[in-house]
Amino acid sequence: MDEIDCAAERIENFNSSALQAVLSRMSQAPSNGICRSCGAPIETERLAANPRARNCCECAAEEEEMARRAKLCGPR
Ligand SMILES: [Zn+2]
Repeated sequence: MDEIDCAAERIENFNSSALQAVLSRMSQAPSNGICRSCGAPIETERLAANPRARNCCECAAEEEEMARRAKLCGPR
């Protein structure tokens, strides 16, 4: 994953729209139905509402909280 991070940074310096394309493609990949954080099956109602959901309800709430904090404080 470090290599991907470095590559993403280089892409960002070189061409931020290319990075955006990569990110949007990643975020549009359909979920496999398993929470990527805790490995629990994602609730079927949740997948029905959002086929791209990658976390169960609990982990998604945590991640949203972290994303909100990252926006306030910056990614690092
Ligand atoms: Zn989870």
